[in-house]
Amino acid sequence: MTTAAAPGTGGRRAASTDPSRSAVRQEDWARAVRALTGAGEICLACHVRPDGDALGSMLAVAQALRARACPAGVAGVRIVASFGDQPFEVPAVLRFLPGLDLLSPPEAVPDSPELMITFDVSSVDRLGSLAGRARRARELIVLDHHASNPGFGTVNLIDPAAAATAVLAAKLIELLDVEITAEIASGLYTGLVTDTGSFRFSATPQVHRMAARLLETGIDPQAIARELWDSVPFGYLLVLSAALGRAVLEPAEAAGHGLVWTAVARDLRVAHGLPFEVAEPVIDELRRSEEADVAIVLKEADDGQWHVSARSKGQVDVGRVCVALGGGGHSQAAGFSMRGSVTDIMARLRELLSSRRDASGLAGPAGVLTAESGAR
Ligand code: AMP
Ligand code: MN
Ligand code: MN
Repeated sequence: MTTAAAPGTGGRRAASTDPSRSAVRQEDWARAVRALTGAGEICLACHVRPDGDALGSMLAVAQALRARACPAGVAGVRIVASFGDQPFEVPAVLRFLPGLDLLSPPEAVPDSPELMITFDVSSVDRLGSLAGRARRARELIVLDHHASNPGFGTVNLIDPAAAATAVLAAKLIELLDVEITAEIASGLYTGLVTDTGSFRFSATPQVHRMAARLLETGIDPQAIARELWDSVPFGYLLVLSAALGRAVLEPAEAAGHGLVWTAVARDLRVAHGLPFEVAEPVIDELRRSEEADVAIVLKEADDGQWHVSARSKGQVDVGRVCVALGGGGHSQAAGFSMRGSVTDIMARLRELLSSRRDASGLAGPAGVLTAESGAR
């Protein structure tokens, strides 16, 4: 991944995937707060095809900035929140989030923003059609928890130990001295439960303390859980059934740790009139297979491109494999996008999953995980 080197933004760091990189420096938090409190216009952006952590964190901060900017209802600061999907559509499962009124299509984001802040974006290309604007932003704050993030901002608030970007968003809101209302808490809680898999992948005291604080604002966790996981169109059940019916188990792959995979072709869901996002939860079923450490789901978008989700139970570093294929993520949850046939993509994956060489070509056991966070 190349690093944006926009003129006049010497703060952008060189690429580094060192998972031992420590938490955010105090001076970077202070610089971010200074920039956000001094700007006349603030652009917020999260990654394409946003998940609960990306959109929830962004809308929480957007609402906090609005509360800070106009406590008496007098608009002084312009706030533009967006993501670079074409067409621009909020995924149906996230339409319950408070603050959607702050969203604008990517065309509404200025060409060269004075100040931009990104949420859960592991590399600049994950901004889709907003990538160019981020490169041209005078000040670019990157709020993220992916170990693979090269630090493409002028201010990098990146903590790979954070269970979700929402954890960092909560800290930022606290530093902005804004009270966490139930509306703000809904976005943060959505990010937290999405990326911890409902406190299964990351169940630390810190995560539970944050959840408790958010619940104290009066949000309804059961209603949020229902929106996120227990409310699907009937057609999804048929798509899931077809995808699971085609699943393949290859116990010898992934250096003997086992691979289970399937594909959700466009035709499969279009037959039921369903959008791309309906394929997202399929990986959560597939990865339950106890015979395989690695689970892969290939999801075909309307434009024919394949978006691939990879999960590992801990033996194989799928983050490294996905980075090698132009994507990103974490050691136990990662993804990439690619054109081509299912056969070809799976062949490339099998080779990398069993390879004893890492993405940089250095010898090293691909099957051994680093200490980085396995959260999404
Ligand atoms: P998903 O499988 O979409 O839930 O994503 C799992 C993890 O992989 C998340 O941390 C994503 O940010 C990351 N990821 C997924 N797809 C891509 C991609 N095309 N490029 C970079 N990172 C990705
Ligand atoms: Mn995400
Ligand atoms: Mn995340």
